[in-house]
Amino acid sequence: MIPYGKQYINDEDIQAVIQVLRSDWLTTGPKVKEFEEAFACQVEARHAVAVSNGTAALHAAVYALDIGPGDEVIVPAITFAATANAVVFQGAIPVFADVDPGTLLIDPASVESRLTPNTKAIIAVDYAGQPCDYDILMNITKRYNLYLIDDACHALGGSYRGSPVGSLADLNTFSLHPVKPITTGEGGLITTDNEALATRMRLFRNHGITTDHQQRDAVGSWVYEMIDLGYNYRLTDFQCALGLSQLKKLSEWVIRRQEIAARYDAAFANTASVQPLTVRPYVDHAYHLYVVRLKGIDRKTVYCGMRANGVGVNVHYIPVYLHPYYQKRFGTSYGLCPAAELAYEEIISLPVFPGMDDGMVDSVITVLQKVIND
Ligand SMILES: *Cc1c(COP(=O)(O)O)cnc(C)c1O
Repeated sequence: MIPYGKQYINDEDIQAVIQVLRSDWLTTGPKVKEFEEAFACQVEARHAVAVSNGTAALHAAVYALDIGPGDEVIVPAITFAATANAVVFQGAIPVFADVDPGTLLIDPASVESRLTPNTKAIIAVDYAGQPCDYDILMNITKRYNLYLIDDACHALGGSYRGSPVGSLADLNTFSLHPVKPITTGEGGLITTDNEALATRMRLFRNHGITTDHQQRDAVGSWVYEMIDLGYNYRLTDFQCALGLSQLKKLSEWVIRRQEIAARYDAAFANTASVQPLTVRPYVDHAYHLYVVRLKGIDRKTVYCGMRANGVGVNVHYIPVYLHPYYQKRFGTSYGLCPAAELAYEEIISLPVFPGMDDGMVDSVITVLQKVIND
């Protein structure tokens, strides 16, 4: 089975991890800072804060902005549930905005229609790896004095009008899960230019305690203060060593993902029933996912047909507000975001990952065309 996404680990990665396993620090040691600095540099942000996963990154971001009960945060209907869950973790209310039917990115007009006096922030999701329209979103957040979070879990390595993803919003969150652009097994990061927010997130990932183990060791003191309620959202040193090693390959991998996407685009250019999502000319798409909309053919037939033929297609995502938890807790239901609901019926994600060669891409294309014509 060709999976829809897969990590790429080489000997260099393995050696980097082994080296740390033989060292004195398995967690909260020098590799964390080294990885954070390299990551911040890569995305042209002043600060990066490493955490245990992408969901923790979103949670830390919502926490850092002091979002709590009674506050509303606008999120897109089409995203992984964690985007909205992070808002709920802090006792606030996720308000679902519809998506643009061409790109499936959050629709700024829908965002504006959802604003209330309780709105505190917008979480934009760079769906599939394509950055949202940040000029328009920033204009809204400035006019209404809101914060902008970029859930960039799909988009590391992408850019918007020449600026890298990770530098586009007040806070930018990443996941390092194996299917994502680079991996540490589990892992996450938040980038920001705001030092106060970075400090708050460092506190949050370490129980709300003002110093970490390494810092206390350095000054020879056991004294620490817990000044807020935090979590243990730390990332280990051996994971950060893997992250550092993976980061070196990011640019090359994004190029390979773009080549695969171009090969799919060319193959489907004359197939009316397979419509790739729209890509805006002023972005560099990181292609975490290659998503097409199926027209005039049943998605489930295609899904089952392709899986039966060894192609591990997937569907990203069920509109979050249709999950039973959201329907029960927030009273959301069908009709809330019509463009998202229609898109959900038609979308399918084809395999794309850096280890995919042209032969594998061509066999996915052949299988899809066969399933459609059968
Ligand atoms: C993967 C992902 C997350 C969650 O990241 P984890 O590391 O799995 O916790 C959040 N948002 C989006 C859009 C994602 O794709």
